[in-house]
Amino acid sequence: ESYKRIAQVDGKVQAFLTLDEEKARQTANSLDEKLNAKHASNLLFGMPIGIKDNIVTKGLRTTCASKILENFNPIYDATVVQKLQQQETVTIGKLNMDEFAMGSSNENSHYQKTRNPWDLDRVPGGSSGGSAASVAAGEVLFSLGSDTGGSIRQPAAFCGVVGLKPTYGRVSRFGLVAFASSLDQIGPITRTVEDNAYLLQAISGLDPMDSTSANVDVPNFVSALTGDVKGLKIAVPKEYLGEGVTETVRHSVLDALKVLEKQGAVWEEVSLPHSKYALAAYYLLSSSEASANLARFDGVRYGYRTPNADNLLDLYKKSRAEGFGDEVKRRIMLGTFALSSGYYDAYYKKAQQVRTLIKKDFEDVFEKYDVIIGPTTPTPAFKIGENIDDPLTMYVNDILTIPVNLAGVPGISVPCGFDNGLPLGLQIIGKHFDEKTIYRVAHAFE
Ligand code: GLN
Repeated sequence: ESYKRIAQVDGKVQAFLTLDEEKARQTANSLDEKLNAKHASNLLFGMPIGIKDNIVTKGLRTTCASKILENFNPIYDATVVQKLQQQETVTIGKLNMDEFAMGSSNENSHYQKTRNPWDLDRVPGGSSGGSAASVAAGEVLFSLGSDTGGSIRQPAAFCGVVGLKPTYGRVSRFGLVAFASSLDQIGPITRTVEDNAYLLQAISGLDPMDSTSANVDVPNFVSALTGDVKGLKIAVPKEYLGEGVTETVRHSVLDALKVLEKQGAVWEEVSLPHSKYALAAYYLLSSSEASANLARFDGVRYGYRTPNADNLLDLYKKSRAEGFGDEVKRRIMLGTFALSSGYYDAYYKKAQQVRTLIKKDFEDVFEKYDVIIGPTTPTPAFKIGENIDDPLTMYVNDILTIPVNLAGVPGISVPCGFDNGLPLGLQIIGKHFDEKTIYRVAHAFE
């Protein structure tokens, strides 16, 4: 059914970079046999799933939407992919994204521009735009994305689906091609909160292959969907409803708060005073980490190699110059500069100090409140091409999602109304490792 739907709509939506039809059919057939023999026990048994193209899949092309990895076939599966296989899901294919997850619109893909299924002239968001669009267009039921500064939540909001960035360390990053290792997390994108909880359950947990994955219990997330929010304390940061946020977005959040209030929750305005520095700190830190992580793409070990090099140094330089797109180069240059001796203290170190203050803002609020609520994005999906020549306007898109990554806490985006037929997202942020409360609130609101 997934492939039928993809054949119908993917020509327009362009969410998939690579399809794995033959293998998917084999898997589905063997699952059918099991089903007939009544051996189907897993909750996600047979579910069609799409995977963002920066998560490695054994023998299945993984490009990160970059020319530099155009023919890269990984020799192993990411931990999350192995865990899905244990659940007997069916991998449908690999999903488009901004190159190396850098971007907010999917316009930075080397291969194609994914479109928003609600309005094909608009972006699906990014960088997990293919992951959100494929679920919204009914091509797959579930997808995996990654979120470094908002890349699951922002496209989920733009496409009217549910997307969760788990607590840093909840899900193994082994096999996720690293962008900014201290911020990256893999997470589920689905139609409903319940589906989301099932998928997070399947991919969570300590992994000996990722030293940053956390040794904490994985609770039963689905059992949190009680619908009961009585007495729950909600904080609403004034910085999240201020400048740049449209009237319609502001009202959609206030309406959502009313719904929760009716069910017995209480809310108050709070302040996250260092929010205004988050964007600057994020672009310094994430670019610094990216400049180190992307050093491995040298034309020798992986992917694209220039055909016309005179010597080894020339080979490195030309392979990288020809293989990386503009946005990736912009970040590598910014990161290399910020880390260079003489500037390190002024930029990288300062940004780390700001990160600590932002984390502290969240800790202070969570001493008194159970969750933080605000919009996911300041506006609904913008037009393709609208922000492409202006990196700064593009960066501002993530102003409400980035602080969550800097603090390492979990956050979800759930659909919350429309602006002129375009979906809007409500962001619910929780304490470290408290995805359960996030799901409880999201489900009550849904
Ligand atoms: N849009 C942000 C960026 O370009 C976030 C990306 C992400 O979360 N991967 O860095």
